Amino acid sequence: MSNIANNLQAIRQRISTAQQLAGRSENDVQLLAVSKNQPLESLEEAYAAGQTLFGENYLQEALLKISKLSHLDISWHFIGPIQSNKTKTIAQHFSWVHSVDRLKIAQRLNNARLGMVPLNICIQVNISEEPSKSGVLLDQLEPLAAEILQLSNLSLRGLMAIPLASADPIVQQQQFHRLAQALKHLQHTFPEAKLDTLSMGMSNDMEVAIKEGATIVRIGTALFGARK
Ligand SMILES: *Cc1c(COP(=O)(O)O)cnc(C)c1O
Repeated sequence: MSNIANNLQAIRQRISTAQQLAGRSENDVQLLAVSKNQPLESLEEAYAAGQTLFGENYLQEALLKISKLSHLDISWHFIGPIQSNKTKTIAQHFSWVHSVDRLKIAQRLNNARLGMVPLNICIQVNISEEPSKSGVLLDQLEPLAAEILQLSNLSLRGLMAIPLASADPIVQQQQFHRLAQALKHLQHTFPEAKLDTLSMGMSNDMEVAIKEGATIVRIGTALFGARK
């Protein structure tokens, strides 16, 4: 087996163990392979080993990969910061966007998605409230969600966060817990919406995230090795 196939197997095992420990059902958690700065061959190797969800941060790099791998059955997720002049291209080439944090971006994605199946959206939350981080603050989340739910070419699926990096698992857990509580609150406020997604957890903290209810973990380094 290749390194990547080995890594993939090990990550699936970590996910499965964490799910069991959390008392969650099998296949509750999806693995998003974060392939930014990785060569095309690495994505092909992961795909050959059964991986079909890929996340990219940089649009130009992503578009090249999407076109080169168009013969494969891949679900492409955009997870990076979004400039408003890139929304049209993002809306047309991805099936998920995890990093929506303002209405203007959502409206532009919605306009560009006309006539296609709805684009799956997660609102990015600045869960650690660091001034430098993207993401909406928790007290502005509900009004933004209400507006996005009005946009018929978007399907608001849930929340995404990149927590403050901390070596302390308790601090990590508190941040994931806050995001999970925020999703519960939205589910209660908008019972008719299909809010089923918590995109949280990366290579170093996926177990804690799964314990707190992650449904998509975004894994780069543990799968592909260090980024080039
Ligand atoms: C790069 C990146 C990841 C993957 O992080 P690793 O620590 O390499 O697993 C996950 N989410 C986002 C938004 C990223 O930019």
